Amino acid sequence: MKVLVAGGAGYIGSVVTAALVQADHEAVVLDDLSTGHRDAVPDGVSFVESSLSDVSKVLTRDAGFDAVIHLAAKSLVGESEQRPELYWRENVGGAMDLLDAMRAADVRRIVFSSSSATYGNPEVVPIEEDARTEPTSVYGATKLTIDHMLTGEARVHGLAAVSLRYFNAAGAAYGLGERHATETHLIPIALQVVTGAREKLSVYGTDYPTPDGTCIRDYIHVADLAAAHLLTLEVVQPGEHRIYNLGSGSGYSVRDVVAAVREVTGHPVPVEDGPRRPGDPAKLVASSARIAQDVGWAARHGLTDMVSDAYEVLTARLLN
Ligand code: UDP
Repeated sequence: MKVLVAGGAGYIGSVVTAALVQADHEAVVLDDLSTGHRDAVPDGVSFVESSLSDVSKVLTRDAGFDAVIHLAAKSLVGESEQRPELYWRENVGGAMDLLDAMRAADVRRIVFSSSSATYGNPEVVPIEEDARTEPTSVYGATKLTIDHMLTGEARVHGLAAVSLRYFNAAGAAYGLGERHATETHLIPIALQVVTGAREKLSVYGTDYPTPDGTCIRDYIHVADLAAAHLLTLEVVQPGEHRIYNLGSGSGYSVRDVVAAVREVTGHPVPVEDGPRRPGDPAKLVASSARIAQDVGWAARHGLTDMVSDAYEVLTARLLN
């Protein structure tokens, strides 16, 4: 297939692009490089520096695209609470531009990167796809809005659409890892402590109703995420909007993750117990039973792989 990867210079998008190339698809990356990196786009892949507002210039009828994988978005929960208008404009406005362009060019297949943030504070864990969706952040609300848009587009215009609700993406693949200007995520921050870029890690809250008092999350290897994009892209049918959770089904606390980082790297990771971060639910764990049943996907990599792969890519980058 010829696939337009919107957001393909970002962390997850670049790994998805590399996986497409490896599977002999033709990928074209569109990215405005607001947070992505040009050098994360695999060699030999066409790259267009553009925002989604100009996507119709690339996604033309003559260009011969079969599908779109859409990962271009603002993705910081905290920032979305400070600048909601930016998140509505970029995420929802961008998706509207993309869907308009797809309709005009008759490109009728999409896989969209949705999020576990669409659920908010779950009533039941593990979280299934028909759980209540009450996002607790603007970021989550924009992702849920786009999911609703895809449902309508599939029903009314016959789009073949998939929303993949990622839990906590981590790890690295094809030499590509996380490289955010402002790092907020647990595993990269713990690895910054290991490499000396940061003195210590703050544990955000130790009084949650969990066995060790710290938050529990479901970490999922970016290579497993990429595999889910490729699998679902092939099987979704016109008029369907499929929604799938992507997680490992295992929960790890902040202290579990720090212990894994110590073990994998052999370095100490000094921590400081701090207050809760506003908006963090105590426990988020996915049920990925639906995608397992429908397309046979399951997470293959555990927490140790995620930490060691991320560490390997980070140290290689520091040496270069
Ligand atoms: N966390 C932490 N210290 C940090 C960064 C994160 O204790 O410096 C915690 C955070 O409160 C959450 C978990 O680690 O419980 C995962 O956070 P992350 O930002 O990686 O992902 P999120 O679950 O927010 O998407």
